[in-house]
Amino acid sequence: MVNESTIAQIARFEERKPWPSPPRFRIISAMADASDRAFDVLLAEWPAERLRAALDEVLELWEVIDLRAAIGIRWNSRLRTTIGRALLDDMLVELNPRLLARHPEQVRHVLVHEAAHLVVRRLHGAGVAPHGKIWKAYMGRAEESSRATHDLDVSGLRARRRRPAAKARRRRSPWRFW
Ligand SMILES: [Zn+2]
Repeated sequence: MVNESTIAQIARFEERKPWPSPPRFRIISAMADASDRAFDVLLAEWPAERLRAALDEVLELWEVIDLRAAIGIRWNSRLRTTIGRALLDDMLVELNPRLLARHPEQVRHVLVHEAAHLVVRRLHGAGVAPHGKIWKAYMGRAEESSRATHDLDVSGLRARRRRPAAKARRRRSPWRFW
């Protein structure tokens, strides 16, 4: 039962509650760092239409252009050392803008790498190894490297909570593809 005294107690409790910590706008803060301008340059070089055209080109090559409408592409600034990933259920390619701003020459490769995952999943089912023979065949046909990792500079892109010690001193670490 709620009476005046209960309401007063709730009011007092509300007063004692600490202010919630300020919301952390992770995407905004991620883009407001030194890579901000590099990201602008990247977007100018790789607008949505160019990403689409590159995707269409490889889908044509794979003779699966009918999948073009099913596949989405987006930049995800929350990715850190993963340069790109394929969200299989959503048929979505996500690209890491901070990492690709440093290495714009890798955009097409990453797009093709992830698109190959989506196509393999759609045409060959869930039981196929992610970087196995079938996926490599698609990558080979796209004349892309079928290596699953790269050894490029990811310094400064590690999650902040990672402990500093030994690992922080390794400036070069493998990029991770999904
Ligand atoms: Zn992969």
